[in-house]
Amino acid sequence: MITLTGKSVFGGVEIGKILFYKRNSRQIRRWHVEDTENEVIRFENAKAEAIVQLKGLYEKAMKDVGEENALIFEIHQMMLEDLDYLESIIHIIKNQQVNAEYAVATTADNFVAMFVAMDDAYMQGRATDVKDVSERILNILAGAGGTIFSLDEPTIIAADDLVPSETVQLDKEKVLGFATMYGSSNSHTAILARTMNIPAIIGLGEELREEYDGAYAVIDGFDGKIYIDPDEETLKLMKEKQAIDREKKLLLQELKGKKNVTRSGQKIHIYANIGNASDVGLALQNDAGGIGLFRSEFLYLENNTFPTEDEQFQVYKTVAENMAGKKVIIRTLDIGADKQATYFNLPHEENPALGYRAIRICLTQTDVFKTQLRALLRASAYGQIAIMFPMITSVWEVRRIKDILEEVRAELRTDGIPYNEELEIGLMIETPAAVMISRELAKEVDFFSVGTNDLTQYTLAIDRQNPKLDDFYDPHHPAVLAMIQMVADSIHAEGKWIGICGELGADLEMTETFLKMGIDELSVSPAMILSVRKKVRETE
Ligand code: PEP
Ligand code: MG
Repeated sequence: MITLTGKSVFGGVEIGKILFYKRNSRQIRRWHVEDTENEVIRFENAKAEAIVQLKGLYEKAMKDVGEENALIFEIHQMMLEDLDYLESIIHIIKNQQVNAEYAVATTADNFVAMFVAMDDAYMQGRATDVKDVSERILNILAGAGGTIFSLDEPTIIAADDLVPSETVQLDKEKVLGFATMYGSSNSHTAILARTMNIPAIIGLGEELREEYDGAYAVIDGFDGKIYIDPDEETLKLMKEKQAIDREKKLLLQELKGKKNVTRSGQKIHIYANIGNASDVGLALQNDAGGIGLFRSEFLYLENNTFPTEDEQFQVYKTVAENMAGKKVIIRTLDIGADKQATYFNLPHEENPALGYRAIRICLTQTDVFKTQLRALLRASAYGQIAIMFPMITSVWEVRRIKDILEEVRAELRTDGIPYNEELEIGLMIETPAAVMISRELAKEVDFFSVGTNDLTQYTLAIDRQNPKLDDFYDPHHPAVLAMIQMVADSIHAEGKWIGICGELGADLEMTETFLKMGIDELSVSPAMILSVRKKVRETE
């Protein structure tokens, strides 16, 4: 048995096989598909998308570097029309009843081997091109609702670290837990583990080796330990620990339907943080009073091109309808920094957390922003949607947002499309600047929601993604708490309300403090709702 120790970011005990995700050498898994016709269509669509991309690259290269250098993209397009190549892929899918990824990768390997074996230097050179075009298709297949790997059985995912564009592709039903070599407690992998209510350990370092791929293991998120090939005694102990944890979770279920009220009668709303429409099930199962933060950027990360107005409208409408009249606060696109979607073509930045992100992108690329606002306003006719805006620093930004929102409303009125005239708008308080001018900001909107993850980062000047700084990253810092009190006072002075949607909202050590501050709503990962309710009910 091998025992590895890291840092726990979410508790729980799970037992299963490890699957090691290797980023640089793409891992192509083979899985069985029943509907091979559909799988061929999946491949054809990816191929069509690859041709569009290559055409774009060809035109760009013609302008930037001239015809000679642009030619390669034309050759790649031709390769994607090569009958031998295409027939091989389709034949593998149909004959072996397997996924398109496997068929593309196998065909690429076969063709590369064939070209390399030829005498002709020109033909040998084509091997690289086959690899290149095949890689492009594999990327598209992975982005277009595909998965990093299809999991046949529940699995513990091990990796160096996972970025949001990778976690969105996971087959979440089958993930037992996360174990990563690096990563920080405030990363989105940690947030995802909390949403999914599964154990997660980060910072296992180089000891977490690729060779453990396929090994049987126990992940103990409480103690931050992973046991590879556990001995009988450990297995027995861990099974007991798992049973006790499950029992506790069952007991929490008894709090369903109960009010979020302190012993002295103070009430607070407890809402859920979600990343996509399918998380609504978790929110409802855990008795969420509403959705306090829908991170809409995950919709963009799941796609390999901008989601259209209609696609977004359908998602927002579904969430609003499923929440059946309960409040659903949707945050507009918060892309940039650690959340990167390649098709945005964001430039490399020295300081991405201080860079071109969130509302700054929306106020610059107003067509992208307006598409999202139209979808949100249209969906507001189907439930109690509220919109909030991330990373605000200035009053002019809010006025500009309101002007754009008004333009969109006017367009919808002209088109005779219904929307909720009473729709609430709010601001995320994530920067010290927003705190300092919170009295001014409070006059502009209906509510505030404190994003403590970023507020801590920007107040303490500590990169939330840097694992070396985990010990310095302290959301309990008096400066952060004073800021929360200040914004609560500002918004209450205007007779409006305030929530907290950062991870600190679920910190049970802080519940009493937040109640004293007069916070009106806490939005937490679905798995934490009943624990926070318990804490509120035990508080004087
Ligand atoms: C926050 O910053 O606290 C927040 C809720 O937003 P995110 O974690 O998505 O940046
Ligand atoms: Mg934030």
